[in-house]
Amino acid sequence: MPGCDAFGLGPVELAAAVQAGESAFSELQRPWRWRAGAPALGARIGERVRALGAELPRVALGRVSADGSHKLLLELPGHADRVEAVHMPRAVGNGRVTLCVSSQVGCALRCDFCATGELGLRRHLTAGEIVAQILVALHALGPRHPGELTLVFMGMGEPLHNFENVARAVGVLNEPRGLGLSPRRITVSTAGLVPQIDALARLSARPLLAVSVNATTNAVRDELMPINRRYPLELLVAALERYPLRARERITVEYVLLAGVNDAPDDAARLADLCAGFPHQINLIPFNARPGSRYRAPTDAALDAFARALLARRPSIVTVRRSRGRDIDGACGQLVAARASA
Ligand code: SF4
Repeated sequence: MPGCDAFGLGPVELAAAVQAGESAFSELQRPWRWRAGAPALGARIGERVRALGAELPRVALGRVSADGSHKLLLELPGHADRVEAVHMPRAVGNGRVTLCVSSQVGCALRCDFCATGELGLRRHLTAGEIVAQILVALHALGPRHPGELTLVFMGMGEPLHNFENVARAVGVLNEPRGLGLSPRRITVSTAGLVPQIDALARLSARPLLAVSVNATTNAVRDELMPINRRYPLELLVAALERYPLRARERITVEYVLLAGVNDAPDDAARLADLCAGFPHQINLIPFNARPGSRYRAPTDAALDAFARALLARRPSIVTVRRSRGRDIDGACGQLVAARASA
């Protein structure tokens, strides 16, 4: 059982693998009990896990943003690959943290505005690598209580392209003998893989759903997000309209605003209409301009006009995400760790 595989096992599977009591799972999945000096495991579980050859990712580089975000560059055992996680404290002193994690090395979907997409897909992360990535980040930076953690699959990769491993990881993270992280504290963000959205709806530990829409006509979305050619807007919207939601649950619609491409008031009106058939909140994300990209960030005036046009069309919850970690390349669309390690 090489590398991180042990971290992707449930309590019964792990107990069988290490021929130990199910307490082994609790020890493995509760990083605040590990010894200081990350990432060293506590002595007893350390012996069991070392006997399996299991290892944790190593934190190769932790850069701190002026806004308090940490970007963790994680070396995966047994591979040359690196992935990134971004640790974002909500506000000074309240202990709550949003952790943005990766599901793949690179990404196959090649959205035109995204730095990760430029890499292409190198490989899927295993469930153990996904869970270990989270445990290492928690061990290094907290929080110590899962009730203070919000997890978002918005790092490198398209999580629903790696459906089996992401679903398994969510199940392990949800296990009460481990972290006990509620699926309602986990958001999976997709570019719009329709069959996998339907599959996500059938999970017993079903996380929250976010969808990157980013365009309001198929012509523009085909250009920005090639996945639209396979699952155009009408199929995507139909999947969102049939998606089962719990009480007070909404689908998060993400919309990256690109100056002169998708930020006109007419786009806002069409976006409101696309979302009319399902409970939602719309998250507007001004593009993070970066060297080499042909896209530009919208002006503040265009952003304001877009938000006003959205609300004028239909009542809705609209938020503007001011990206965290922009100065450390930890913001949306800036995660390119694999290239740095190439
Ligand atoms: S935006 Fe998401 S789905 Fe699109 S290429 Fe980037 S990582 Fe992949």
